[in-house]
Amino acid sequence: MELVESCGLQVIESCLFMSSQGLSVSYQKYFQELLPPQQYNSWIKPLLFEIDGNKVILTAPNSFTLRIIQERFLTALSKQAHDFFGFPAEIELRLQKKRTSKPVVPNELQSASTPVPATTPKIQKSSGKLNPLLTFDTFVTGKANQLAHAAGLQVAETPGATYNPLFVYGGVGLGKTHLLQSIGNLVAKENSDAKICYIHATNYVSGVVKAFQTKSFDEFKQYYNSLDLLLIDDIQFIADKPGTQQEFFYTLNSLIDTNKQVVISCDTFPKEISGIEPRLTSRFTCGLTVAIEPPGLEMRVAILLQKAANSATPITEDVAFFIAKHVRSNIRELEGALNRIEAYARFHKKAISIDLAKEALKDLLAAQNKQVSIENIQKTVADFYRIKLVELLSKKRTRAIARPRQIAMALARELTQLSLPEIGNTFGGRDHTTVLHACKTIDSLRNTDSTIEAEFNLLHQTLRG
Ligand code: ADP
Ligand code: MG
Repeated sequence: MELVESCGLQVIESCLFMSSQGLSVSYQKYFQELLPPQQYNSWIKPLLFEIDGNKVILTAPNSFTLRIIQERFLTALSKQAHDFFGFPAEIELRLQKKRTSKPVVPNELQSASTPVPATTPKIQKSSGKLNPLLTFDTFVTGKANQLAHAAGLQVAETPGATYNPLFVYGGVGLGKTHLLQSIGNLVAKENSDAKICYIHATNYVSGVVKAFQTKSFDEFKQYYNSLDLLLIDDIQFIADKPGTQQEFFYTLNSLIDTNKQVVISCDTFPKEISGIEPRLTSRFTCGLTVAIEPPGLEMRVAILLQKAANSATPITEDVAFFIAKHVRSNIRELEGALNRIEAYARFHKKAISIDLAKEALKDLLAAQNKQVSIENIQKTVADFYRIKLVELLSKKRTRAIARPRQIAMALARELTQLSLPEIGNTFGGRDHTTVLHACKTIDSLRNTDSTIEAEFNLLHQTLRG
């Protein structure tokens, strides 16, 4: 975005004696001078500007505008606020409320007469709420997430009536949280009375611990059992916590038995999670289990184009292809690369081109050039353990072969840009969950087995040169 660097003193002076309403209006108008009319009219004008102390509250009419403001204009808005008011004003973004009631979170229950879980209000506060920016509207679909998207939509439209629980699994940054939140937001929109809780599994664990400490287990249970929709994110974090698992098992059963919807996300397929009781993992699979795969090239391009659409700095398809070709790991990193390019363009006041993208991502590209090839990893590992390359790539499961194979997979994960399915393919067409399992196994062995740790480091060093 092209914004002038400083604000004229005149404007500040003329605002000094205005009411806060007048001040907020002139701060909004101030942007009219700075931005091209189309951008001002599309994004800034629809906002409601309010000033509360040293806080500027911006209320957006819809989640799409809110997202655009957050992604494209927030930095400029806060910088300009500083210039305009002469002190660092805090910018708070809000979404205009359409309904009176909101999704219920434990904290809010406290003011109502409903039973209160005497758990950790602080933790619940940040975890129980839905993020209005993560909706189905902004969720790009493609082959990699089509099924998960369709199932999520179905569950949100008819909670408790179809797939229960819905279990969504996939690697980091692929959209699990976005999907869970979209389901919550849609249910809340359709039914403002629905009691919805979105919680990250680590916060659920803390809640259980706190309930034990404060002997408030009944309230804790009562709260979870009273929900209409429970969205629990990253369930792998309850592994090796038997008390939490037992509690969750009862809650899960109770919700499912009363046709209340449960949606669970996880980084692996249920049966692959280690440290979780079998009765629980088998309960996970009694509804529908769907995967979110890493997006292919076209989908990565579509995501980039969607994210850059209507932005102050739009990108062409060429540039989107360029980024998508080089950033392959996950959507979060794709967003990171786009943000970096946009910031770079803004800073240098240049339009976004492939050359500019190359310049902005130069560290990332340089790191890739140093990347080790998968063939090199496989050959080096096979040589090191004195096994044949064909054996390493075979389906043989004997320890003498399987362990080196897992090490090679873990090295490939660390030293290449390949995705889990891509690594799986190069090892004789194995599933991505096998690769993930290998990486986790090696990761934990490196902490407990000094030989493995030494061998891994040696191979790592050799390959990096
Ligand atoms: P996960 O929970 O699987 O680690 P997230 O849901 O946090 O991943 O997604 C990472 C980022 O990518 C978030 O900013 C999210 O909004 C974005 N994202 C993920 N999937 C999609 C999608 N299908 N369309 C648009 N944005 C997406
Ligand atoms: Mg997540």
